[in-house]
Amino acid sequence: MNLQETGKKSMKRSRYNHILPLAEKDTNILYNMLTGSIMQVDDELRDIIDNGKFESIGEEEIQKVLADNGIIIPGNTDESELFCSRYDDEKQNPDYYLFVVLPTFACNLSCPYCYEGSGEILTKTMDTATLKSTIDFIKKTLAEGNPGKVVFKLYGGEPLLAIDICTGLLDEIIPWCRVQGIQADVILQTNGTVIDEKVMKELVPEITAVEVTLDGSREKHNTIRRYKDGSGSYDDIIRNLILLLDSGVKVVLRINADTPAGFTRVLDEMDEFGLKKYQDLLFYTAFISNYSLSEFLTDNGLCSRDAEKSLELKMVFDSIVRGKGWQNHYQPYSPLGKQKAVSCNFEKKGRFVIDPSGDLYKCLFCAGMKEFRVGTIGEDGEELDTAYYDLEKRNPRDFAECRECRYLPACGGGCPVRALINNGTYQSGYCGTIPKFMDQRILVHLQGKHHDYPAGENDEIFGL
Ligand code: SF4
Ligand code: SF4
Repeated sequence: MNLQETGKKSMKRSRYNHILPLAEKDTNILYNMLTGSIMQVDDELRDIIDNGKFESIGEEEIQKVLADNGIIIPGNTDESELFCSRYDDEKQNPDYYLFVVLPTFACNLSCPYCYEGSGEILTKTMDTATLKSTIDFIKKTLAEGNPGKVVFKLYGGEPLLAIDICTGLLDEIIPWCRVQGIQADVILQTNGTVIDEKVMKELVPEITAVEVTLDGSREKHNTIRRYKDGSGSYDDIIRNLILLLDSGVKVVLRINADTPAGFTRVLDEMDEFGLKKYQDLLFYTAFISNYSLSEFLTDNGLCSRDAEKSLELKMVFDSIVRGKGWQNHYQPYSPLGKQKAVSCNFEKKGRFVIDPSGDLYKCLFCAGMKEFRVGTIGEDGEELDTAYYDLEKRNPRDFAECRECRYLPACGGGCPVRALINNGTYQSGYCGTIPKFMDQRILVHLQGKHHDYPAGENDEIFGL
């Protein structure tokens, strides 16, 4: 599409252009949230676009670039409808189905921030009848949806404390997927302390990748990720990481780090243990939020604080990674997001969290919190609650505030659970931190975009 073809008079500016004037004179960044295009424009062009006087753009080439990047669009285009249709499409046709299975809530550690109460508040382990119902439910969902790919994530508690449930699930479901022609990946999210001979022999051969968390350097980690007797888990985790990497399994480390000095120390220690030689070791950074899950889901101020902090730290951490020669292992987060319409992975079709009781959730952080349950599975199959259907039809097209919002493509209507908590219904938006930090996100993106890092094939599914 270009102005020649469409005629200048029929064009209008995109409602999703975001203009950020830079301190440098006559320089602006123009970011289109719907197409993801980003470019530098001078004040004159900025004003022309802003005022809709496209006929005064002299050069045909510039007109074409603006049209090709969705900065100016045909006058009859309904962009919010375009986005909402894309939303429906992504939701109904996800790249892969996802089942996060919690074989147990039990845990052998007692991290102070654990929302599940370190296996003491929520205690249940899945029984064999529920395992069977889980397998039946997964098979039925896959057979009905027929996706080309499925990801299973073993989560907890500490899933390896219920190794027989883990192997019982995978031994049945992986060969079945193979017969159906469905590619199956398995992610094991573990605290990394319970990797014994049985795990290595019976489970690890089925695993695509293991995700483990380090809460900072050895000293810091051992004050947080403690066994029940108070002793630290760092040395056991590092030893087990090496065991896994030596056996050829991909390991994704989540490194929680709050300060540049702390992060530097973690990388130095990883170097001392010789971890850099393993190509299958990848890591990303996050940090521990020292508030409980109920605050995490309800306190907008705290969420903003974390978003601001991660944007601030991103550039510093990226430069430490390069300075220390770890860039081949690094998966930095993208400050402008991934250009996807549906912001919550679990809102998509064929994605469920299944807890040890066989309760179904559409949110990783709500497992075990019955008020957010969307259904349950048992001997007679699944029973889906009205909450499930309510979520299934959720689309920001139906929320006046989102339909008219200029941040819609960047936000997608926000977290459904937070929308429910704040507004009493899934049929509403949750504004979150996207509008507040859009300028900072663009700046951080620009500062980092020249550095190439290996994008993990499955990077979206780590650290959900
Ligand atoms: S907290 Fe919100 S965005 Fe995150 S998984 Fe749960 S519902 Fe989705
Ligand atoms: S949730 Fe808020 S920021 Fe997001 S699209 Fe809706 S109104 Fe805009």
